[in-house]
Amino acid sequence: MARTGNKSIQAKLVLLGDMGTGKTSLVLRFVKGQFFDFQESTIGAAFFTQILSLNEATVKFDIWDTAGQERYHSLAPMYYRGAAAALVVYDISSMDSFVRAKKWVQELQRQGNPTLVMMLVANKADLETKREVATEEGERYAQENGLLFIETSAKTAQNVNELFYEIGNFFVRSP
Ligand code: GDP
Ligand code: MG
Repeated sequence: MARTGNKSIQAKLVLLGDMGTGKTSLVLRFVKGQFFDFQESTIGAAFFTQILSLNEATVKFDIWDTAGQERYHSLAPMYYRGAAAALVVYDISSMDSFVRAKKWVQELQRQGNPTLVMMLVANKADLETKREVATEEGERYAQENGLLFIETSAKTAQNVNELFYEIGNFFVRSP
């Protein structure tokens, strides 16, 4: 995270989580305001930038949307090196994806970066009828592990901007 001047913050943000949980969809919703029912799988990694104007600062996000690590379950250092924030995404309609999200959290914790802001993102909140992971379950895990937590839907846009605003505000407030 770099500060240029007083009120401009640049932050590298990385998205992790199981394939199909909606990482790319969350980024496209945030950056372009779009959603695709048949989102093409990401190959390698995709890079996006987006600027958020907050009351006290401007935050420029450099967003790394990963793919493929899902398969090998090991994180290429280039993704997390220098990252200020990590979003670990699961799909509320897949207990499997929640289990794997916890593995990603553990992997990140092993990297031993004490200033990394981690947020657990419970995506596909619109799939309430197929829900396998209770909100409280995600919330509790996040609380126990010192993570931020938010439930989102890239499809309906629920809480997607809020997610990035919350991260942005976290940086503005942190010394
Ligand atoms: P990624 O592999 O984690 O990048 O996941 P994608 O963004 O490619 O999304 C995988 C699939 O889930 C696509 O068919 C998306 O349209 C769908 N998807 C993503 N987010 C949501 C969501 O919030 N709700 C619903 N119902 N589907 C979603
Ligand atoms: Mg993707």
